[in-house]
Amino acid sequence: MRFSIQQTVRTSLCIGCGLCEAIGQRDGIKMRLAENGFYEPTIPDSISKEIESEIGKLCPGVNIECIDNKETFCGNVVAAYEGWSNEPEIRKKGSSGGIITALACYLLRKQQITAVLQVGVCEGDFLHNKLQVSRTEEEVMARASSRYAPALVFDHLPELLAKENEFYLFIGKPCDVMTLKKYINIHPEYQPRIKYYLSLVCAGMPSYNATQQLIREAGNPTPPVELKYRGDGWPGNFKVRFQNGEEFLRSYNDSWGKVLGRNVRFRCKICPDGIGQWADLAVGDAWHTVDGYPDFTEQEGQSFILARTPVGNGLLNEACRAGMISLQPLDIGNLRQMQPYQYLRLKSVFYRLVPAWFLSGGRLKIHRLHIPRFNFIQGCKISAGTVYRFYKRKK
Ligand SMILES: Cc1cc2nc3c(=O)[nH]c(=O)nc-3n(C[C@H](O)[C@H](O)[C@H](O)COP(=O)(O)OP(=O)(O)OC[C@H]3O[C@@H](n4cnc5c(N)ncnc54)[C@H](O)[C@@H]3O)c2cc1C
Repeated sequence: MRFSIQQTVRTSLCIGCGLCEAIGQRDGIKMRLAENGFYEPTIPDSISKEIESEIGKLCPGVNIECIDNKETFCGNVVAAYEGWSNEPEIRKKGSSGGIITALACYLLRKQQITAVLQVGVCEGDFLHNKLQVSRTEEEVMARASSRYAPALVFDHLPELLAKENEFYLFIGKPCDVMTLKKYINIHPEYQPRIKYYLSLVCAGMPSYNATQQLIREAGNPTPPVELKYRGDGWPGNFKVRFQNGEEFLRSYNDSWGKVLGRNVRFRCKICPDGIGQWADLAVGDAWHTVDGYPDFTEQEGQSFILARTPVGNGLLNEACRAGMISLQPLDIGNLRQMQPYQYLRLKSVFYRLVPAWFLSGGRLKIHRLHIPRFNFIQGCKISAGTVYRFYKRKK
């Protein structure tokens, strides 16, 4: 089936990354914030076949890569750790153990990179996010912690990669890392620009409307001036500060669990890779468990880290030797309890992707899909859930 940007948006497969604007700028493709609270492209009546074909090859909405390794349930793993930043401020500000921020600061300090490409809130705004270029440790620290909302990541990509004296660390969601690597594969002249790829573990990107819903719960008559989704502890609170100085807090369980996590894009619900298989390092929450379930009681932050390449493992151990971070070996079997959602998602991907392929009119390009060992009845229920969510999101 021929790729169509319009059809990708219509079937809620678009993840709003902005790559189509980067590739199709001269044909007039432009990202906008749609009423549903996600970024989507606006497409002029006619765009050239070459542009549409390049977007079709790279669009993360329709190009789906399943985990490429049958030895572990979570893909290629060179080494697995639990860890945290040894700098208390970074550990506190970070989403989990502040590992990503600590590594970014380490690379800047050692001048191994010239800048960090990472998502952060737009200047003078409390809500909207975009890819930022951080050149100092202060900038990196200001952009620590997860923002559970969309971000334009790739709309200015060619300009960033064309700068010959830049050497970047790229931080993104698993789909962002995959997309950037694929883009560089077909533009190998940009390959020296990115020294390291770090991925956060991701359960899906919620709409801005979900954030607005939480803000409305505060019932504060003055406008919000600052918004944090978590951090300042582990997991830390969703926290909004208003112009009148008042603060509104919601626990991680109430914000992510009851509102944000229930408002993610359809494409995220069928995603097979929430655990950064394309990155050098993937970092997530090393939740402690109580009675077999993650425990969200406030404590000192701790991350789990999957080193997926020798380059990533080398960086981790270098930062550990330099005293920036602490590491302990992790048995990857423990991820099943630490990350039950990610585990279920990996095991049941076949039952989500097959109905999604039919619902998209055969437009999904699924690579390396295999039938995992999974309870058939439960799998059919998951398939039914995928069909239900597809039609529900159209209303
Ligand atoms: C949409 C989303 C879904 C998530 N789902 C899970 C999950 O299922 N399981 C889990 O364990 N953890 C999840 N996380 C949390 C994430 O895995 C943690 O950020 C991770 O534990 C890293 O912690 P840290 O303390 O090392 O990161 P920090 O040191 O706090 O650094 C976080 C980095 O993430 C970047 N970032 C923040 N928001 C975004 C964004 N929207 N897009 C791209 N980059 C961003 C920041 O620029 C920063 O560099 C999710 C985060 C997001 C944004």
